[in-house]
Amino acid sequence: MNEVSVDNCIFCKIASKQIPSSVVYEDEEFLAFKDIHPAAPVHVLIIPKLHIDTLSTTQVEHIPLLGKMLELVPKLAHELGCGLVRHSDGSLTGGYKTLINTGPDGGQEVYHLHIHLIGGPKPWHGQR
Ligand code: 5GP
Ligand code: ZN
Repeated sequence: MNEVSVDNCIFCKIASKQIPSSVVYEDEEFLAFKDIHPAAPVHVLIIPKLHIDTLSTTQVEHIPLLGKMLELVPKLAHELGCGLVRHSDGSLTGGYKTLINTGPDGGQEVYHLHIHLIGGPKPWHGQR
């Protein structure tokens, strides 16, 4: 893997708006934007604005950040139209897939921690 730092990290550049993206959510700590190569009708990436290389390099002090990142998933899924819905008869519709690729064998391409939120009809039949 090439050395990655905040200075040459593509997702840091997206977070600081040096590189444009289709932003679907932003707050002080996080940005969510559409994946440039969507694998499903809904495919967004949720990133912390803080540069962290991978899930494997997170530290104890990142636990609150990781919790907030996960909490964003159902909220954004709902806003993007792929939230999990429980109907009055107890049946479920909707739903989505979440993915964190880690390292070479995990298929990670961009070394800035991100959660893929992938939704729409049966995305698990796709490539990922
Ligand atoms: P990974 O394989 O690291 O988990 O996923 C990286 C994802 O970032 C890929 O799905 C890829 O399509 C997406 N991606 C890479 N470069 C860009 C970019 O410049 N803009 C956007 N919006 N997505 C990107
Ligand atoms: Zn970064």
